[in-house]
Amino acid sequence: MIVRKQLYFSCLAALVGLASPCALAQQKHSHAHEHGKGNLEITLDKNRVISRFTSPLEALVGFERPPKNQAESDAIAALNQRLLNPATLFSMNAEAECKPTILENKIVRDAANKHADLHYQLEFTCTKPAAIKQMTILLFKETKHLKEVRVEWVGSKGQKSSTATAKSNTVTFN
Ligand SMILES: [Zn+2]
Repeated sequence: MIVRKQLYFSCLAALVGLASPCALAQQKHSHAHEHGKGNLEITLDKNRVISRFTSPLEALVGFERPPKNQAESDAIAALNQRLLNPATLFSMNAEAECKPTILENKIVRDAANKHADLHYQLEFTCTKPAAIKQMTILLFKETKHLKEVRVEWVGSKGQKSSTATAKSNTVTFN
């Protein structure tokens, strides 16, 4: 099932009536909400790596509406626990000595409470930026519902799009 995601990304410029830069930013982040598929945007900037992951909640716990029973509540609690340990979900190659910080971690529901997305943004700060080579999406190991992640990265070496899967879960920056 595919639905177009609402353009409800918070945008202060829009709130105060400033037009175009905000509209562009919204367009860039308006991914389709497609079950089983996540999106990962990575920006490499000197010693920092920003990673913006969005995914249907369905791809993470198997359902999206608010939990209906104890088992579903437990699944959400377990997911929340994992999200608080970003290094176990997304990891940079060890040589670069990167430490992740969580910038955003929230679940956004549609108005009808049928669909929901996780917005999960990390900032890695790396002691040895020259050694930055790749990111591994360990999250695949945590859920059987996540079938693929569409990856886009941009940095001084260029930019590239690819698709990661459980069997091919490494993004190489070259
Ligand atoms: Zn959905």
